[in-house]
Amino acid sequence: MTTRLLRNARLLDLEHGGELGDVVVVDGVIADLGPGAADRRLAAGDASVASVDLGGDLLIPGLVNAHTHSNQTIEKGLCDALPLDAWMVVASYGGAGARLSPRDLYVSAMVGAIEMVRSGATSVLDCARSDNEWVDDGMDAIMQAYADLGLRANVAVQYSDLDFFSSIPVDLVPGGAELRKPPVADPDVVLAAANRFVDRWQGRSPLLQPLLGPSSLPRCSTELFEASVDTARTRGVRMQTHLLSAQSQIRMAQQRYGVSTVEFLAKLDALQDWASFAHAIWLSPEEIELFAQTDAVAVHNPASNLKLGAGVAPVPALLKAGAKVAIGSDGASSNDTQNMFETLKLSTILHRVQGPPETWPTANDGLGMCWTSGAAALGADVGRLAVGAQADLTVIDTDYVWPAPAEQLRHQLAYAELGSAVRSVYVAGEPVLVDRAFPGIDEAAIRAEAREIATRIWTTLPDRLARFEEVRPVLEQVEAAVGGGTGVCH
Ligand SMILES: [Zn+2]
Repeated sequence: MTTRLLRNARLLDLEHGGELGDVVVVDGVIADLGPGAADRRLAAGDASVASVDLGGDLLIPGLVNAHTHSNQTIEKGLCDALPLDAWMVVASYGGAGARLSPRDLYVSAMVGAIEMVRSGATSVLDCARSDNEWVDDGMDAIMQAYADLGLRANVAVQYSDLDFFSSIPVDLVPGGAELRKPPVADPDVVLAAANRFVDRWQGRSPLLQPLLGPSSLPRCSTELFEASVDTARTRGVRMQTHLLSAQSQIRMAQQRYGVSTVEFLAKLDALQDWASFAHAIWLSPEEIELFAQTDAVAVHNPASNLKLGAGVAPVPALLKAGAKVAIGSDGASSNDTQNMFETLKLSTILHRVQGPPETWPTANDGLGMCWTSGAAALGADVGRLAVGAQADLTVIDTDYVWPAPAEQLRHQLAYAELGSAVRSVYVAGEPVLVDRAFPGIDEAAIRAEAREIATRIWTTLPDRLARFEEVRPVLEQVEAAVGGGTGVCH
């Protein structure tokens, strides 16, 4: 048994308002908390105690990043002023992407994880893409990065079998359909790789979960998507995919399924508590109601939606209907940060450009999306300071920028912080960041290697952009035909 006493902190979550107290962590789980909790533990004769005095700093549940792509972190800053479909082609998924070796994927994941922890996150749901040729080694490298840092990670192996141009309505444009190619992968081969990933990692570490990651409905054949849902259900594996991140997907769903996307998911019985859906922008009012009646989790990605001009997700309507909505940074080549404080702020204030003030998500709503629905997306008891919850905790230095009384602490957390006040981070009670340093890794060496990889990848960009320019006219015509927000989920 390992006991850690975190003493003398202001405890803040959705139930606690900043009162001074302690948190007692036993074997990674919160065993007691509140005023006098540490002394109670010591009085009970627990001899295996490590104790830290937090000096009145704020102690919050770690932020939950419910959607990103670790393979993109190495390409931060890649594109500017490109809509989603065009970005897809250049970034990774439309034929002009960089090929990342397993070591590249390790470094990319590590750099992203470092950024997340430094800005207060303790857990992530990562839809990670490895080259099919080395998918086993690539996915293992990403898992190893999270294991080495100590971050809690649900990692979905992201896959698809259809080519990019089969997933957007290029048939609306003269000659566009000629861009479509036959399926790029065999569904059985793709799913076999996903099953191997689950075989290797299920039950191996309490902090690491392997997930299925069919990239999106338009990118997957119906056969592959249905098989993914069946596998998730029969093997007890969680799943994340992208849902209606572009307006054109409304048309694709009608063409392919004859019903809306959410109706199709309901028919497959895929709207379960083990499934989460990134973006969820272009849902009809009927789809919002249908989605909200289920335990499935939508994940809001405001920064990348804004940067790619993909649209504003109907978060107020989803929340009003009772849907679970978590929040995520999305990948670093479309956001481009992995900073969950930025995502938290945008998740609330973005929706004030439309709808009356009584519909606007508040700071509490934003924190609830991050903590409570984030926990639901992960399927983990995180995001709260309570006996029995995982001790995933972030220490905020209140001397840094925080003058407010307790009544305003949640507002400051949601609107005034970007991570610079994050002093320490614990995951399952273990220190991952201590006084702004990582005890377990050589951060400078990782950063140096990341610079080398990024420089090497950057040399391939002219060729990639040349391939993009070949298809750009068609993409622009499709964009005009569907009225913006074209492209597919990545
Ligand atoms: Zn995404």
